[in-house]
Amino acid sequence: MPSKWAGKSSACGKIALFPDTSDFVIRKLISRVFRGNKKKPAAGAAAIIPVASHGITRDRLSSASRRTCEALHKAGFQAYVVGGAVRDLLLGAEPKDYDVATNATPEGVRRCIRRSRIIGRRFQIVHAMFGQEVIEVTTFRGELDANTKKDEHGRVLHDNVFGTQQEDAARRDFTANALYYDPASENVIDYHHGVGDLKAKTLRIIGEPRARYREDPVRMLRAVRLAAKLGLSIDPEARRPIREMASLLENVPAARLFDEMLKLLTSGHAVKCITQLRDEGLHHGLLPLLDVILEQPMGERFVMLALANTDDRVQRGKGASPSFLFATLLWHEVLAHWEKLQQAGEAKIPALFQAMDTVLDVQGEKLAITRRIAGDIKEIWSLQPRFEQRAGKRPYALLEQPRFRAGYDFLLLRAQAGEIASEIADWWTRFQSVDGEDRAQMLLPVPADEKKRRRRRKKPSNSVSGTSA
Ligand code: ATP
Ligand code: MG
Repeated sequence: MPSKWAGKSSACGKIALFPDTSDFVIRKLISRVFRGNKKKPAAGAAAIIPVASHGITRDRLSSASRRTCEALHKAGFQAYVVGGAVRDLLLGAEPKDYDVATNATPEGVRRCIRRSRIIGRRFQIVHAMFGQEVIEVTTFRGELDANTKKDEHGRVLHDNVFGTQQEDAARRDFTANALYYDPASENVIDYHHGVGDLKAKTLRIIGEPRARYREDPVRMLRAVRLAAKLGLSIDPEARRPIREMASLLENVPAARLFDEMLKLLTSGHAVKCITQLRDEGLHHGLLPLLDVILEQPMGERFVMLALANTDDRVQRGKGASPSFLFATLLWHEVLAHWEKLQQAGEAKIPALFQAMDTVLDVQGEKLAITRRIAGDIKEIWSLQPRFEQRAGKRPYALLEQPRFRAGYDFLLLRAQAGEIASEIADWWTRFQSVDGEDRAQMLLPVPADEKKRRRRRKKPSNSVSGTSA
């Protein structure tokens, strides 16, 4: 999804590509490095860091990112792996995804790479596809100027000017994210002292922090997420204005916030991120319920356990399911509604379904939860009362449910959080691990009133009794 950065705007206004100039600058700089000139580069110029110094050889890149750059180089364009992938490689971590920056226009990129398509109507980018891997290829962005369209708070709405590599570097958020790796020379090109900052474990914003947050408030969230994920500390200059500027996040479209929150929650460091978001005063209004949940003692315990669990899965290389995550985040809200409806005289199961709908209707819209995710969340929730039924044939039917595993994991969390007796969760753990006679032996006796109800239901027609949840 082309959800990068601030706004993206319709077809490019001015195109300012200066391949020759940039090549010249780079050649000049390379020759300076080879002359052994160790002087700090002049403002605006890049430091060229050779492989002997950073140690990242081109075979460390994903094959798709390498092939994307090769195809563009062959056609005479500049092309670099940029951003998070270079940063992660320098830190010795496996990049989550690869981005390539080039001086070719989106059309130019599309012509060079057979399986590629242009995405986005405003700031267009290209998805280059090689097997399963998709590389996001972006044309160098130009400087923001007086014509840049912003909202009344200063958030950039239209971002449609192409530019030079140097301009592109200045448009990136943090110095560690403005590094360009050239697979041909294996050099890292560093305009903003990003390599040094990485070495010092500092996340430093490029430019004046307040102005950069105003342009795009999501950068505050990115700062917290990246610092937590990479074990960096946010530079005090960048950290200081966050608390007072937090309210700017309210103007960010819900879908973008949802994407960013999802990244944060599935980063493998969600507990750290959420704790830090709270410390920075950023959690209010982000996930509308997060503040409410975190203020209820049971809710907080449950959510934190769920996040710790997700972190553990992600760190072990297992994916995290967005539906499971949001099911946990919203569960205590469902519980509160469910309880209220039952107290008002509604029967248990219809009350649960009504509570689920209410919560999803309200939160689904605010969070831009897709219909498919909402469906999955409901399934996880609606399985919960069925775990209480441990007699007759019902446990066997539950085991066959396609969402059994997610429902069971959710049950374990509830038990861990002290919301239900751990005996129920233990029973289900054992029920899955044994079979045949041992499994049958575990079943609880069908309560007398349940037997009576079943007989009554069977009499008129010979239909099989349905499950109640
Ligand atoms: P991750 O490890 O989550 O992928 P990332 O830094 O690579 O982290 P991406 O969303 O993949 O994040 O973005 C790729 C690059 O695009 C970033 O490294 C940064 O250079 C630039 N970028 C992304 N978002 C912004 C933003 N809001 N403002 C400025 N630059 C951004
Ligand atoms: Mg990335």
